[in-house]
This record gives sequence, structure tokens and C-alpha cells, in this order.
Amino acid sequence: MRQFKLSTLSLLAITLLFASNSLTGFSQEQYKENKVVVAKEQYKGGTFYPVQQYDQVKSKKGPKNIILFIGDGMGLAHIYASMTANGGSLFLQNFVHCGFSKTYSSSAYITDSAAGGTALSSGVKTYNGAIGVDAAKNNVETILEKAEKKGLATGLVSTSAINHATPASFIAHQASRGSYEDIAADFLKTDIDVFIGGGTKSFEKRKDGRNLSNELKEKGYQVLYKMEDIQKVTSGKLAGLTADEHNPPFSERGEMLVPATETAINLLSQNNKGFFLMVEGSEIDFLAHNNQTTGVIQETLEFDRSIGKALAFAAKNRNTLIIVTADHETGGMTLNGGNNKTGDVTAKFSSTDHTGICVPVFAFGPGAEEFTGFMENTEIAKKMMKLLKVQ
Ligand code: MG
Ligand code: ZN
Repeated sequence: MRQFKLSTLSLLAITLLFASNSLTGFSQEQYKENKVVVAKEQYKGGTFYPVQQYDQVKSKKGPKNIILFIGDGMGLAHIYASMTANGGSLFLQNFVHCGFSKTYSSSAYITDSAAGGTALSSGVKTYNGAIGVDAAKNNVETILEKAEKKGLATGLVSTSAINHATPASFIAHQASRGSYEDIAADFLKTDIDVFIGGGTKSFEKRKDGRNLSNELKEKGYQVLYKMEDIQKVTSGKLAGLTADEHNPPFSERGEMLVPATETAINLLSQNNKGFFLMVEGSEIDFLAHNNQTTGVIQETLEFDRSIGKALAFAAKNRNTLIIVTADHETGGMTLNGGNNKTGDVTAKFSSTDHTGICVPVFAFGPGAEEFTGFMENTEIAKKMMKLLKVQ
């Protein structure tokens, strides 16, 4: 039955591909469908990017800034496949403090991105689907909100819609992740300095008739829709809305997370009290739901290059803690073959959904040594709050 359903979806995808030459990304709820029609298991190695080595930054004083990278659905296989695809190295290799995060939620052994995001933003285990609320549906304060209260600058960057579960968990409080318009409205209740991602529809074409982009402009935000314009912003508050819903996958959108991360760091680092930034490689998860080896690798490599930009900043700045982790693993990905010289990878998947295995945690900078061994996903939030002194 499941087999039949998948092949029907593939046929539908092929039909759609022939019907229209241009695929326009993932719609808000359809990202789990099997729509990208390419060879599924094989990644053909191509060009490699150079990976710089950075000295470890140690300091008795805690970090002034924290940059949290969440690779949605990014397990160890996704990382190692990408490392192989890049000729055996990634920027992630600069992280020498590593641990494992237990991702289960309060309602399930296998979490979703809402409960996973809320654990990482607030230090609270909650039910699948919950955005910034606990198991009893009470609002929980997130690290982004706590940082804002203390006068730090704050930002969110994602390749998905910015009001999708992961970024939403840092800024919104809703009982259900599907309340996209309510989540978008929650952005207006904060003073977030920078956000860049998809999701224009939930801000501008709303059932309640509000136009949140106009409201953002009234609050002093520059509201921009194209990465080429977003990249040029060097001061002030910025709302970058680069797609109606989710941005297209890397094969269609090209480099987006890298310039978005650079822009956000450049703007946020102008606050001398410090900043908190969350950057999400959202579509590692989408392509893993689709069991697309090539797509998973392309998304993970762009995520790694974004980490490279943060490392370059942190190595110079010396007051910045970078954490890289995932909310859960997606796809039950395994590596059945690879070649570090050619970059070729063969992978298989045991699921088209999330799995229950723990995910890696990587830390670089002041306080990094606290993120080793096995930990609850909620401990990551608590440690970050303590180190940033925003409890
Ligand atoms: Mg996500
Ligand atoms: Zn997912």
C-alpha cells in the first residue's frame, strides 16, 4: 500500500515536471511529498570547496554572542555523506567539542520539528506540534526573547518559510505548528532585528486582511524580497522574505543560506551588548523526507558553508559561541558506498519520516567544552541561556 502510494506520487511528480518547466519550491505543507525526480540513491561527485582551519577560541569569560545552527533532520549520515561529497572535509571539522542530543519529545519517541525546536529554544520538552508552548500549552520564554529583554540583538535565518516550525519555535507561541498566520503575527510582538526566509504569503495574503509587511515597515524594518537586495543591507532592522512559502531546494534557488547568514551576522554584530542568531538548514529535512541523496547533500553542503562564514567571524571576534546541531534525524539515512577522491556517495533510507536516533552536537568558541557527551535536547537551550547570561 505504501509502495503504491509512493509510486503514484512519483508519477504525479513526473507529470507535473512535464506540465511545467519550472518547479517553484515546496509549498507550506507539501514538502514531504516525493516531488524531485532525479536518481535517488547516487550522488555524483563534482567540485569541492576549500575548507579553512581555525584555531580554537578559548576564554574564561563566557560568550557575548551565540550563533545556533540547526540542520533540520541532519543526522551523522547526512553530515558524513556531505563530507565525502566535498572530498573528505567540511567546515564542521573545526569543531572539536562534540556530543549527542536526545531528541524525543514529551509526547513521542520520535519528535517533530516543533517540539524539537521548542526544546532547543526554551529548554522544555513539549508535545509534537507545539510552538513555544509547554505540554500544558502555556507559553515558554525562548532564548531569543530572553536575549532581546537583555538588550542583545536577535535574528532568525532559514531556507524554509520563516514561520515554519523550527524558526517559529524561537519567536512564536502557538498550540499548533499549522497556525501559520498566527505565527507570522507573533513576529510583530517582538523586536527581532533581522529575519530572512520564505513565508511572504503568511505576512501579506492573510485571512484577517492585515498586511504584516506594511506593519513591519511602520516599525522601521526594511522589508526586502530578493537576496541580491537583502545582501546590500548594512544597517537597521531587516525583514527578508524570499519566497511565498518555502524557498525552492538548492538545485533551483542556488546560494541563499550563505549570504543570508553573512548579512545577519554583519547586522547583529553591530550591537555591542551581543547577539543571538539561529540559522536553520531547513531543507536537509525536506530532501531527506524525499529520500533524495543528492538533495540532502546539496542542502547540507550549503549549511556547512554558512557555518564557515560564522567560523570566520568567530575566529576574529573571539567572543562568539557557535553551536551546530539538529532537531532530529530524517530518513534513517545510511551510507552504502562512497569515495573521498571523487566525492561519489551512495546512500539508502529506511524511512520517509523522522527517526528516533540521537543527533550530533558540535560547539566552537567560549563555553564549547560544555557541549560534550550525551545530553537532552533541552540542556542545549539551558546551557546557551546560562552562558549568554540571559536566564
Ligand atoms: Mg525546520
Ligand atoms: Zn521533517
